[in-house]
Amino acid sequence: MVEVELRSSKPLIYDLDYANLENLIRDWQLPGFRARQIWEGLYRNYWRSPEEFSTLPAALRQQLAEHFRFISLEPIQVLHSSDRETTKTLFNLPDGRAIETVLMKYEKRRTLCISTQSGCAMGCVFCATGQMGFKRNLTSGEIVEQVIYYANLLHQEGQSVTNIVIMGMGEPFHNYDATMAAIDRLNHPLGMNLGSRRFTISTVGLVPMIRRFAAEQRQINLAISLHAADDELRSSMLPVNKKYPLSELMVACRDYVTQTHRRLTFEWALIQNVNDSVETARKLARLLEGLLCHVNVIPLNPTQKYAGIGSTRERALAFKAELERHGIPCTIRIRRGIDIQAGCGQLAIQQTQNSTSKPVVI
Ligand code: SAH
Ligand code: SF4
Repeated sequence: MVEVELRSSKPLIYDLDYANLENLIRDWQLPGFRARQIWEGLYRNYWRSPEEFSTLPAALRQQLAEHFRFISLEPIQVLHSSDRETTKTLFNLPDGRAIETVLMKYEKRRTLCISTQSGCAMGCVFCATGQMGFKRNLTSGEIVEQVIYYANLLHQEGQSVTNIVIMGMGEPFHNYDATMAAIDRLNHPLGMNLGSRRFTISTVGLVPMIRRFAAEQRQINLAISLHAADDELRSSMLPVNKKYPLSELMVACRDYVTQTHRRLTFEWALIQNVNDSVETARKLARLLEGLLCHVNVIPLNPTQKYAGIGSTRERALAFKAELERHGIPCTIRIRRGIDIQAGCGQLAIQQTQNSTSKPVVI
């Protein structure tokens, strides 16, 4: 009953920014400090229902309950990796669309990998989310709520979210405004106050948006999904390359570094005998020559609709060694959560094929 009430069609409270909330409190003819108390309840205490707002008078709690819904994400599947360090949650949105959020615990870090869209329009052939197609953009509040969901759980264990990577489902630069609004909300000083440097956005390479992002001079880290160092191969894997070929993308990347003085990360999913040869590493090194950057290689996570497989450790090491021989720093990322299909979109694609409404915890 309460659940139904909270998941109704009222506006989602996390879609409000601080200025909206202040206006609302003014409209309701309440003292200004109530806005701050509500914000703190949402973004410092991570209260998930109006009844929990013990700092507010009952009438205001009631008013909030009447006007807003506090929950839009319904966890329908929770998976833990065998080492318990990675947890992945598949959520249903009120319209039945699915998204995924992943928590990775590593030493003192508590990193969340969040989604910005349900599905994705970019169609990268090796990506489970791309294979699903585009469903819809998330609102800024739906992006924020993924963080609050986990922040609330961690808070109960005396822990907190330390980093956020925007590498879940969807292309963040294809939902630019909502993504930036969500980050602004999460780093608001009166609330969660999570610094910009703790965020990393990964993009498939939407050139106009890279330029817009550079001009905004945000302190957020940027990663570009490259995966190939020539247009023929890149276009065969990432259709967006036909629209924004490497020549344009690399100029935008170089301009970004010049404008922001920030180091760029390039993502490279290593696919056995496709993009993992020493010659390819050499080609990549030429492409990145003189650029303030770093390459993250990650052996491909196999997906249902793509025949490629992840490179062997030997080939990954040889690729890294060749890049480093040319002065390009490279890290081989561990495949965290491989046993729970923590690769982008891999749970949601199952969900669309095999509908279940009960939470499954492994
Ligand atoms: N749309 C954005 C962010 C989400 S995807 C982007 O493409 O950058 C996050 C990262 O996961 C990207 O680098 C993407 O190329 C990579 N990725 C997608 N499917 C993968 C797979 N099956 N194995 C390894 N990496 C994958
Ligand atoms: Fe979309 Fe990124 Fe997957 Fe490509 S890799 S389909 S851009 S989510």
